[in-house]
Amino acid sequence: MTEEEGEFITRFFKCKICDTHHEIKLNKKLAEGRNRFPFSHIYLHGDLKDILTILYIDKDLQIRGVETEVLSRENIVSKEHMVEVVGKLVEEIEKLRQDYNVLYDRYQALSQGKQESPIMNFLKEVGDGVGEFLNTLFGSKDKSQDDQKSD
Ligand SMILES: [Zn+2]
Repeated sequence: MTEEEGEFITRFFKCKICDTHHEIKLNKKLAEGRNRFPFSHIYLHGDLKDILTILYIDKDLQIRGVETEVLSRENIVSKEHMVEVVGKLVEEIEKLRQDYNVLYDRYQALSQGKQESPIMNFLKEVGDGVGEFLNTLFGSKDKSQDDQKSD
């Protein structure tokens, strides 16, 4: 298998907590659409997924810096870190939401002409709920209401 030709690129970084070189697969599109470099990429690693890992990555997806911290209640004091961790989780939720949307569309296609079903409603609610959650966290960029007023 050749990683370089796929969707991901393999990078290595030295972790002072594990005292080893870790391998990480980065999505080649990770740097797309960003206007500040290096950008931070957050994830958790370790047997218990309790090592907060912040990689600073440049536009060529080279790792320029590494910060690692063992997660515990005591050291989650940085609001900035917390926001980034939440952002990371939201990315995961967004992926799930997209999966749900695909399922939802597929289900709708299958059930054309039939009554609404509980699973269909569930999928729709999950999609809407995540959207609201994202808006709450990052603020809705939708200014359509203001625009209507000024018209
Ligand atoms: Zn490590």
